[in-house]
Amino acid sequence: MATLVFLEHHGDELQKGALGVLAKAAQLGGDVAGVVLGAGVAELAAKAGPFGASVVHVCEDAALEAPLPQPRIDALATLVGETGAETVLFAGSVLAADVAAGLAARLDAGLNWDLVDLEARDGGLVGKRPALQDSVLVDVGWTSTPRLALIRSGSFEPQETGGTADVRSFETSFEDFSTAATMVERAHEESSGPSIEDADVIVAGGRGLGGPENFALVEDLAKALGGAVAATRAVVDAGWYPYAAQVGQTGKTVAPKLYVACGISGAIQHKVGMQGSGTIVAINKDPNAPIFEYSDLAVVGDVHEIVPKLTELVSEKRGS
Ligand SMILES: Cc1cc2nc3c(=O)[nH]c(=O)nc-3n(C[C@H](O)[C@H](O)[C@H](O)COP(=O)(O)OP(=O)(O)OC[C@H]3O[C@@H](n4cnc5c(N)ncnc54)[C@H](O)[C@@H]3O)c2cc1C
Repeated sequence: MATLVFLEHHGDELQKGALGVLAKAAQLGGDVAGVVLGAGVAELAAKAGPFGASVVHVCEDAALEAPLPQPRIDALATLVGETGAETVLFAGSVLAADVAAGLAARLDAGLNWDLVDLEARDGGLVGKRPALQDSVLVDVGWTSTPRLALIRSGSFEPQETGGTADVRSFETSFEDFSTAATMVERAHEESSGPSIEDADVIVAGGRGLGGPENFALVEDLAKALGGAVAATRAVVDAGWYPYAAQVGQTGKTVAPKLYVACGISGAIQHKVGMQGSGTIVAINKDPNAPIFEYSDLAVVGDVHEIVPKLTELVSEKRGS
């Protein structure tokens, strides 16, 4: 099985989710290659070796500098044609979703999206996809190759196996329509600390906080623990916190070592986004809150009393 993994990058870092998908592909076996597209990205490509890519294909072109999908579709279509890749995997992101969909249309290939696992079975590949509001996992397959798959973010840990990659350049031509769009402006949200996708510790706030001003409690605890802040959809919909922090079915999937849920009921749609966390601590005043059913540590009490005390204790212990 020849597998190609699209390695998205931000600045001079390969995206963690893409490295996780690469590590999973390496675990499944066969020839696993990565592909990095951009301008001035050759050095970046070698970084994929330890995560399981024996080869990393690189295409450098000014048309690939901006994170626009269409030129990437041209480059990937060229590469799939040249290498005969049977499987092309993408780690879920806004850009990857556009590229995967466009490539599927270009190659007349099947795309399974929002997968949370992959399994090699009978010489082929089977994907696992959550369905019925994430309450069940269904097996999905492909009837032809290349098989394209978009993996839900946070599904696989980027595990290093220590290999090295052979970095190979390739060239592509671009369709006229592929270079018709240009990047007019890029804006970055100012934030400090790790993002929820990368954080080892997440402190999440829900409606139990009582109002947007009380998110300061959650932020202070996250800061003391060196973690990131997440939120439920209820508070995002209410405008208390930005959507980028939403965890769950219609938000992000996260898997930190520690997840502290403050004033969160634990609805199934929230659970699916954080159940892969190492240790789950929940603080809720209702002893029957569903979140306690899947927490490692349940604290029954008022977040307004417990969270500031916890922050104080953590700060004392850490000497900050
Ligand atoms: C299609 C669909 C997709 C969805 N996607 C998502 C998603 O991606 N992410 C997500 O989170 N939700 C999602 N939801 C919404 C989900 O069903 C819940 O409504 C939401 O998660 C509830 O958020 P919450 O826990 O903040 O609020 P609530 O359910 O209102 O819970 C608040 C909790 O706080 C506790 N509480 C109140 N006061 C205090 C206090 N002073 N101290 C301690 N505890 C207190 C209460 O006991 C309660 O358990 C989705 C729903 C649908 C239908």
